[in-house]
Amino acid sequence: MVRDLKKIFIDLQKLCKALQLTSKYLFTSMQASADKKLDVSFLPAPGTTLTLQYPDQTFPVPDRGRYKLHNEIEDCIVCNKCARVCPVDCIEIEGIPAPEVIGVTSNGMKKRIHAAKFDIDMAKCCFCGLCTTVCPTACLTMTSTYDFSVFDVLEHKVSFAHMSEAAIADAKQTFSTSAAIHSIKQ
Ligand code: SF4
Ligand code: SF4
Repeated sequence: MVRDLKKIFIDLQKLCKALQLTSKYLFTSMQASADKKLDVSFLPAPGTTLTLQYPDQTFPVPDRGRYKLHNEIEDCIVCNKCARVCPVDCIEIEGIPAPEVIGVTSNGMKKRIHAAKFDIDMAKCCFCGLCTTVCPTACLTMTSTYDFSVFDVLEHKVSFAHMSEAAIADAKQTFSTSAAIHSIKQ
C-alpha cells in the first residue's frame, strides 16, 4: 500500500515536471511568434503570380524553423547529451577529459573535456530538434540554411571539432599521465 502510494506520488511529480516543461516551451514559442513576424513583404498581392529568381532570391524562413545544424564548438562542453538523445544516432562525439578546467562557455559553464571529434551526419538527421533542446549551453542550434544539396552524400557529414592530430595526441597523453598519477595517489 505504502509502495503504491509512493509510486503514485513519483508519477505525479513526473507529470507535473512534464507539464511545466511543455507550458514553458508553449509560452516561449508563442512569445517568439508574436515578437518576430516573418517578413513576407516581397509577396505579391493575392491573385497575382510570384516568380522567385532562385538561387539569387529565396523565401524567408521562420526563426524557429528546423534546418541545417550548427555547433558553436567553443561553447560545447562535450557532455554528450545531444548524441544520447538523437533518435537516429547521427551525432558522433569523441571527448578527451582534461585534468583541469580548459575554458568557460558564454553562459558561464566550465569546460573540462576537449572536443576531439564532433560530427553530425546531416544525411541521417530527421530534423526533430531534440539535440538543440537538451544542449545545456545552447551551442547546438538550427540555422536558417535549408538548401545544402551536395553531389556526394558523404559531404553531408559536417565536422565541427578543429583539434589537430598533434593537439589530440597531446590531450590524450596529458589525460593518461594525470590518470596514472591519480591512481598512484589512491
Ligand atoms: S535534429 Fe534530431 S535527428 Fe537531427 S541530429 Fe538533432 S536529435 Fe539527431
Ligand atoms: S549537448 Fe551541447 S554541450 Fe553537450 S555535447 Fe552536445 S552540443 Fe556539446
